[in-house]
Amino acid sequence: EVALLVTDGVTTTATKQNVGRIICHENVHQWFGNEVSPVSWTYTWLNEGFANFFENFATDLVRPDWRMMDQFVLALQNVFQSDAVASVNPMTHAVYTPSEILGTFNAVAYQKSGSVIRMMQHFLTPEVFRQGLVIYIRSNTREAATPLNLYAALQQALDQSSHSINFPVNTIMQRWANQGGFPVLTVTRSAASAQSIVVEQERFLMDRSQSLPDRWHVPVNWVLSTNPDFSDTSPQGWVPPTFPAQSFNIPGLSNAEWYIISLKQQTGYYRVNYEPSNWAALARVLNSSHESIHVLNRAQILDDSFNLARNGRLNYDYPFTISSYLVKESDYIPWGAANPAFTYLDTVLSSSPVYNLFQRYLLHLSAPLYEQLGFQAVEGEPFVTPYHRNIILDLNCRHGNPECLNTAQSLLEGFRNDDSQPLNADIQTLVFCSGLRGGSAENFNFLWDRYLRTSDSSEQSILLNALGCTSNEERRAFYMNQVISDDSPVREQDRHTILVSVINASPNSTQAAFEFIIENFAAIQPRVQGLTGTTNILNALARRLTSQADFDQVESFEARYQNIFTAGELASIAGIKENIASSITWSTQNAPIVEAWLRANYDDSGAPALVSGFLVLISIFVTIYNH
Ligand SMILES: [Zn+2]
Repeated sequence: EVALLVTDGVTTTATKQNVGRIICHENVHQWFGNEVSPVSWTYTWLNEGFANFFENFATDLVRPDWRMMDQFVLALQNVFQSDAVASVNPMTHAVYTPSEILGTFNAVAYQKSGSVIRMMQHFLTPEVFRQGLVIYIRSNTREAATPLNLYAALQQALDQSSHSINFPVNTIMQRWANQGGFPVLTVTRSAASAQSIVVEQERFLMDRSQSLPDRWHVPVNWVLSTNPDFSDTSPQGWVPPTFPAQSFNIPGLSNAEWYIISLKQQTGYYRVNYEPSNWAALARVLNSSHESIHVLNRAQILDDSFNLARNGRLNYDYPFTISSYLVKESDYIPWGAANPAFTYLDTVLSSSPVYNLFQRYLLHLSAPLYEQLGFQAVEGEPFVTPYHRNIILDLNCRHGNPECLNTAQSLLEGFRNDDSQPLNADIQTLVFCSGLRGGSAENFNFLWDRYLRTSDSSEQSILLNALGCTSNEERRAFYMNQVISDDSPVREQDRHTILVSVINASPNSTQAAFEFIIENFAAIQPRVQGLTGTTNILNALARRLTSQADFDQVESFEARYQNIFTAGELASIAGIKENIASSITWSTQNAPIVEAWLRANYDDSGAPALVSGFLVLISIFVTIYNH
């Protein structure tokens, strides 16, 4: 019922948005799934990719203020993470057994396929795409289809239109659907005064020690600083798979201070890397007049630069200098793009000597929005503001803004004393979580008791996500035990949330959860409702484990349960190992650069205004705790 019911004041904005999306998603299956079915589960993406795309597209038509197609970019950036490993399956992927078929209902079939379909909409143009889908549904009605039927229908619509592209739809789409992963483009100006650029492509893999020969037909267009118009998303050129590099003549390039190559508004499913002088120019324009770059391209620049640096393709100075513009960024989407990069850095820097400077940097970037958004929702505020508020409050409470922690603590105590007073549903997880970080068993027991009493599934979900934040070891063990205990009150479909919430709470909690999973996996597996539960748990681990010791533990975990792991679980474990290997490389290669940047820009001597602001906060903290 969490997918259908909305109660004002109780249901969170995120749940309400999910209800809208899911209603659209299931309706879309009337056409993509029922009217036309894939001939085999090898093509699950023909159902789920279109349902994923249209759940956003259709909700956006009904509620444009929800900005679903802007939020789509964050989902695309998110799926890049799981699609950047060599072991990932392509969209079209032959399956035979029930376990393999279950395994196709994953991020590739949903978000990746939805993102590639969105790219197709833009390289064909929205009108040709629409006509092509009408032909596809009409000519295959009540039949089973393969992707070839889809490509033929889109080609027919393209041929009937005035729009043309360099390659047949079939030729382009074969590679996008049949190869795993996605490309990274490397763009260089042949000389500072040149009117042309050279673009190379290769497959983007998080672990740089691997390389694969996959290439794609990549649609591109460009924007110059002299005419920053981001509206036309149709391609101006293609990077073909057959040449090692493709050059493009761009009139006016030599007069441009900066340029952007992409499919505008991040409609392309690929990353873009530039020569250092253009990265520096992009950092300058963002720090001086960020609004001259489209909000979705700002999100792309943040996500690409941080991930290219993490990948060893770009010096970390660039993404950090770029990110310093966020102190002026008031839009949610770029913050939504930067936040996963900050979460990653939080994990890999947690034992670094500059961790403190890193935390201070995040508090500095978010200070204006912390002031502006606060804890209370404002009547009539934009739909996505609660998401933005959560990011800002989480950064502040997690990284030790004492005022944030005190406010969360007092909101939780006020709620404990009189829980008839409604507490803004959107910040409940954050307030409860921050309140549990102190380790109070009373706070834990109060919230657990509340979980037992509520029948509202949205509130249950808030509480399950918060309870894992407890730093009280005994309560944490009790909580994790609810995954496998025979008399657990938590429904099987919700139990994976317990472990995911503990894994995400803190480095200590990640270790505790991992040990629990190693000890009890045989009991966990049948009690978290099938493959999606265990893959959610394993994927959460993949984002948090970073050290050689973690790697060794994963290997013994893999050996211990080799007889019971499903194909999907084994794929997740391969992903964990690839992620850890790249984190180990990160520490040796990148930590010194990040440390130097933070010391140069945010050390005591380097940023006096910031430091004095921080000292004021500390003195408030001391004052409060002395009373
Ligand atoms: Zn579906």
